Amino acid sequence: MVLTVLLLVLLAGLAGSSPPPEPVVCARGTADCTVSNAFGSFLDRTVCRAAHATFPRTEKELVAAVAAASAAKRKVKVATKHSHSFPKLACPGGSDATIISTERLNRVVSVDVAKGLMTVESGMVLRDLIQAAAAKGLALPHSPYWSGLTIGGLLATGAHGSSLWGKGGAVHEYVVGMRIVTPAPASQGFAVVRELCADHPDLNAAKVSLGVLGVVSQVTLALQPMFKRSVTFVTRDDSDMAEKAARWGDLHEFGDMAWLPQLRKVIYREDDRVAIKTVGDGLNDHLGFRSNPTAPLISGRVTMELLEKNINAIARCKAANATVSLFETVAYGFTNNGSMFTGYPVVGFQHQIQASGACLGSQEDALLTSCAWDPRIRGTFFYTNGYSIALSRVPAFIADMQQLRDRSPLSFCGIDASVGMLLRYVKASSAYLGKPEDSIDFDISYYRSYSKGEPNPHYDVLDELQQMALHKYSAIPHWGKNRNFAFEGTMAKHPKADKFLEVKQRYDPDGIFSSEWSDQVLGINGSPAIFEKHCAIEGMCICSDDSHCAPEEGYYCLPGKVYTDARVCSFQPAF
Ligand SMILES: Cc1cc2nc3c(=O)[nH]c(=O)nc-3n(C[C@H](O)[C@H](O)[C@H](O)COP(=O)(O)OP(=O)(O)OC[C@H]3O[C@@H](n4cnc5c(N)ncnc54)[C@H](O)[C@@H]3O)c2cc1C
Repeated sequence: MVLTVLLLVLLAGLAGSSPPPEPVVCARGTADCTVSNAFGSFLDRTVCRAAHATFPRTEKELVAAVAAASAAKRKVKVATKHSHSFPKLACPGGSDATIISTERLNRVVSVDVAKGLMTVESGMVLRDLIQAAAAKGLALPHSPYWSGLTIGGLLATGAHGSSLWGKGGAVHEYVVGMRIVTPAPASQGFAVVRELCADHPDLNAAKVSLGVLGVVSQVTLALQPMFKRSVTFVTRDDSDMAEKAARWGDLHEFGDMAWLPQLRKVIYREDDRVAIKTVGDGLNDHLGFRSNPTAPLISGRVTMELLEKNINAIARCKAANATVSLFETVAYGFTNNGSMFTGYPVVGFQHQIQASGACLGSQEDALLTSCAWDPRIRGTFFYTNGYSIALSRVPAFIADMQQLRDRSPLSFCGIDASVGMLLRYVKASSAYLGKPEDSIDFDISYYRSYSKGEPNPHYDVLDELQQMALHKYSAIPHWGKNRNFAFEGTMAKHPKADKFLEVKQRYDPDGIFSSEWSDQVLGINGSPAIFEKHCAIEGMCICSDDSHCAPEEGYYCLPGKVYTDARVCSFQPAF
């Protein structure tokens, strides 16, 4: 009921929204700072510290900031306007570090309409970038679906939309130039600007860099003349999903699929480029990215916390079904003319369809409304797992997932509740840390407890799913999502990892842009897995001992149900 009320209010399309909080907060001017993410909590629930923060407005100021850190051999890290990565990518090494915020590096540098080139500063938010390009009659052909990311941050993590056509769905495929500020010897003033043009081999390292090479100052993108898209969502049963997934990306330029495992359905997105004169002025104002009234958000969360604790929660599945129905009824927030949905297809300009982010809105309303995950209210709190599997292995993976669903259907309601597991197409990339093969990226968002170490009766299945993906199907985790254990051994899955590390050594030999986290995930030093009490509940480790689960509450480390090599925390009722 509470969820339904929340969604009905959402549909009203609130105009204002308290803007998201600043991720960088300093206690004394620009000193004694903390950096967090948009959810107010990194995976290990810590907030990171830095001695100083700096907010350059120009490339010259940026160079000065890097030079100062480099001269002092002080650790340094870039933070962005909203900081949307789940792992601790934005945390600098140590606690005496400097944060360089790109919040004020948010301008268009130049546009060459004839050549379709646009150069922007790296802190520009995707929403502004898309609008600025459209104002010149140009379109970024592919992007993530959430427009609150910065161009610097989304490139650093290899972010993408969905496409197998042309160069594919990842934004870094459209980068044809970069200016990056890196440390340098004293003889060069401790920092230099490196200009990487389209055929510079180092661009393959810089366009997906995890932020460890230096600070990207400017990015040049190859855009296309503005075009229109035609979008239709069709829901069908999931019996032939494995076979369909193998072909869907070839059939539709922007196609994706959302699997509703417990409902045994798939929402197919038929999404194609159409002639610019096709009638339609549609808008994608995705329901999940609108501003939310905070009161029902908070009460909705209370209900969810109760539902999540019950292993046989039929009510949890009913609530999920209601959410799916509502989203379906309102076409997920798509409208034909910017205000009303009158039927499919929704035809609209690329910049109105490719991404959305209404809750980023500018009016401060004392937290009457906010993005659903705003950490200042006790609302939505979730994990996101995202990993890609080579297309050739996808049908077998889907068959295994369906087998697991058949064994534990109720545990999959949490995926239905967030309107499904999203399957998106990403092409093989020349980026050293990009996808080595044409792949499907599988994404789920699901309930996260506010209490550290609190077990959940459904996590065993979700953990089995991810371990199966990572270990049986060699899935590659999305750099900006997932929980710690997913990154163990990731570099071994990137055939050009050595080339990336060679560029890193050349650009930043003292590793001032490296942190504990980046060293762990890049396989340089230590492991991203943390073994301690309850670590598997928190996704910090794969359990190898009952103490990694919560035996005192009946959760033990046991093999998976379908992928028996998995080790997950399963609830065993006392007899
Ligand atoms: C609601 C939501 C929706 C999402 N949707 C998608 C999606 O559709 N597709 C997808 O692939 N991903 C998606 N993501 C994940 C997202 O791609 C990543 O988390 C992301 O790209 C972060 O961008 P950001 O600007 O917030 O960067 P941050 O998280 O702030 O930074 C990421 C890394 O980049 C570095 N960095 C940032 N700017 C620079 C710079 N100028 N120079 C050097 N290093 C830099 C930072 O230091 C950090 O290491 C989504 C995340 C959320 C929360």
